Amino acid sequence: GVDVVGLNKSFGDNHVLRGIDLQVAPGEVVCLIGPSGSGKSTLLRCVNLLEVPDSGTVTVGGFEVTDPDVDLDTMRRHVGMVFQQFNLFPHLTVLENCTIAQRKVLNRSQAEAEQVARTNLERVGLSEMETRYPDQLSGGQQQRVAIARALSMDPQLMLFDEPTSALDPETVGEVLSVMRRLAKVGMTMLVVTHEMGFAREVADRVVFMDGGVVVEEGPAAQVIGDPQQERTQDFLARVL
Ligand code: ATP
Ligand code: MG
Repeated sequence: GVDVVGLNKSFGDNHVLRGIDLQVAPGEVVCLIGPSGSGKSTLLRCVNLLEVPDSGTVTVGGFEVTDPDVDLDTMRRHVGMVFQQFNLFPHLTVLENCTIAQRKVLNRSQAEAEQVARTNLERVGLSEMETRYPDQLSGGQQQRVAIARALSMDPQLMLFDEPTSALDPETVGEVLSVMRRLAKVGMTMLVVTHEMGFAREVADRVVFMDGGVVVEEGPAAQVIGDPQQERTQDFLARVL
């Protein structure tokens, strides 16, 4: 799970995160929603220390990643991240994209790395594509490779930052259904999304952020279906 307490982050005099508290229990799916610029990506990036918070603590899987003595490589190994842009290596095949970090970071043998990669490519429905290069795939297929690549590191936690917002509408569904299946098998997930339908259906909890604070959180049916705060109501009126 994840435990964020009192998190603050500024860029210059832009105070982006203003005392965020956020918990994700093991096996829980939390969707993070909110307007552009509210700090959602920054929060996600603080969870795996792509950004270093100014104050507050982040604990992942029981150990505090904001402890200055933490071994970042060990920590990041347990956290998978999927971005809006797929960030695949263009000069590597689908299979190689899914094995390289296993080889370099986890020191797995080529045979073991390929076996794990194939298992995960099958999970995302891309077994037939392993010899292709990223530019020979649709956006939705590339994003599914990015998910298979992250899963191949055996993460305890998956972070998703608007994984479908760069996709053609016709390929959004295939990525969401992979994520839905992951949620069903108990993966711990923190998902920034504009897909309110997905959030309503899959999230155990929805967190609405605005202006660097958590404005409202609760079960999806409550936060999206019956928001109590005016800022949440205004946001939903614009996106629904
Ligand atoms: P969106 O929905 O558009 O992705 P967001 O909620 O993810 O928005 P962030 O990307 O976290 O918002 O940005 C929050 C604020 O922090 C914005 O004002 C942004 O300009 C600023 N910001 C983010 N990253 C940096 C950075 N590396 N350097 C300076 N400012 C940054
Ligand atoms: Mg963002």
